[in-house]
Amino acid sequence: MNIKFYFYTILLVLSFTNCTAQNNNNNKSNMQKENKANPYYSNKDTNKLVLKEEEWRKILTSEQFYIARQKGTEQPFSSKFENFKEKGTYYCAACGNALFISDTKFESGCGWPSFYQPINKSSIIYTPDTTHGMQRTEVQCGRCKAHLGHVFNDGPPPSGLRYCINGVILDFKK
Ligand SMILES: [Zn+2]
Repeated sequence: MNIKFYFYTILLVLSFTNCTAQNNNNNKSNMQKENKANPYYSNKDTNKLVLKEEEWRKILTSEQFYIARQKGTEQPFSSKFENFKEKGTYYCAACGNALFISDTKFESGCGWPSFYQPINKSSIIYTPDTTHGMQRTEVQCGRCKAHLGHVFNDGPPPSGLRYCINGVILDFKK
């Protein structure tokens, strides 16, 4: 009787542990594909997206939230896109809005993914930024106003511009 009881208890515990382990794995892969949990993400919808900060907090990773909504800056040379050369399109990781194409990406050496021109005029919003004792122009996503980075006048031809963008808030598709 006792042995039987132990046997069933062990079985029960084992199956429970397996189940938890599986759930943890699922959570992990969901976190990696964070856009799946973002119902507002779209590569086609160009309508403006205005959400409350607490909603953004729910659908963005903490890193993305810090960059996009709190105008943070990622560590230089930390982005996988910094020396990334694949052909494709870069989208806003917060809302899916198309921002840049790989043909306009260049190696600036500044430590952040750099482009000389956005995919189109409405893809980006420009705002004067005088924080940190500097006069800069902030660039935001044209659809959701996520902070992307800044644009500077020391870029290559034909535009002469350097869009210095946080890789955390970029989403790339071939
Ligand atoms: Zn966006």
